Amino acid sequence: MSYRIGVLSVQGDFAEHVAAMNDLEEVDAAPVKTKKAIETCDGLIIPGGESTTIGKLCERFGLDDAISKLHAAGKPIWGTCAGLILLAKDIVDSEQWRLGYMDIQIKRNAFGRQVDSFETDLPIKGIEGGQARAVFIRAPAVTKAQDNVEVLATFRDSIVMVRQDHLLGTTFHPELTEDRRVQQYFLDMVKASASCVGSD
Ligand code: GLN
Repeated sequence: MSYRIGVLSVQGDFAEHVAAMNDLEEVDAAPVKTKKAIETCDGLIIPGGESTTIGKLCERFGLDDAISKLHAAGKPIWGTCAGLILLAKDIVDSEQWRLGYMDIQIKRNAFGRQVDSFETDLPIKGIEGGQARAVFIRAPAVTKAQDNVEVLATFRDSIVMVRQDHLLGTTFHPELTEDRRVQQYFLDMVKASASCVGSD
């Protein structure tokens, strides 16, 4: 049995996500950018990149319909960085297009433009085996999370990893490290949702 994980490939670092997911057994990961390809996924990753560009292209190609169907079916969706910005309901000082599924407020470029990128080690709730290396690139931070959102990691005073049911968000880039534990965490979400669908 292999799980089909699509990585939205309209812009951003989708190739790195595809390669990282395919490091795991039982995964058949591929870039997706058509409605049909998106609808047949067991789980979807929305990568880092430029959230305004990814949003515009989603809207232009009507991909939000296909993504909404996955969301409504409870299929796991993982947004990293720009991808998480698009999942947020509320984006500080921005009217940009978004999917808006998660009950969070997010602030773009929250760590300041001067510190364009940095790396650190983070303890992550639900991930065993010690801290995980986290790479931040012009990263956003989650500035508010409703009670139904579980905070999985923080860095200083900022929330940097969240989960709301079948939705997962990281403001950092696990696909840019050698550690595959966050990918495994997402795969476990995909497996759980697939077995729910199968047992109906
Ligand atoms: N700052 C970018 C944005 O607002 C996100 C950066 C990233 O995805 N690495 O879209």
